[in-house]
Amino acid sequence: MPKKEKQRGKGSFVRMCAGCNGRKHKDGLIRVVRTAEGLAAVDPSGKLPGRGAYVCRDVKCIGILKKSGRLARLLRTEIPPALYDMLSAVAESGESDGS
Ligand SMILES: [Zn+2]
Repeated sequence: MPKKEKQRGKGSFVRMCAGCNGRKHKDGLIRVVRTAEGLAAVDPSGKLPGRGAYVCRDVKCIGILKKSGRLARLLRTEIPPALYDMLSAVAESGESDGS
């Protein structure tokens, strides 16, 4: 299957979920990024620059991630509890491409 075609800038990246360790297409994941200011931010567009981590669009995985504290280690910054709420909100909205 040729992969030369770019679908409106959407790559076909597979990333690992930091919650369940499952490998998923980027579209099924939510990206969390550490901004230049060193703060963790939800990056629904997946386009922000900086160190990133991924979690499934699944509140279960977000719950695992929250419990594990792994995100703080991956991003090397503190994760405010509100960030997990934002992740859950994105997961529940079910919007993956905004089309
Ligand atoms: Zn997962």
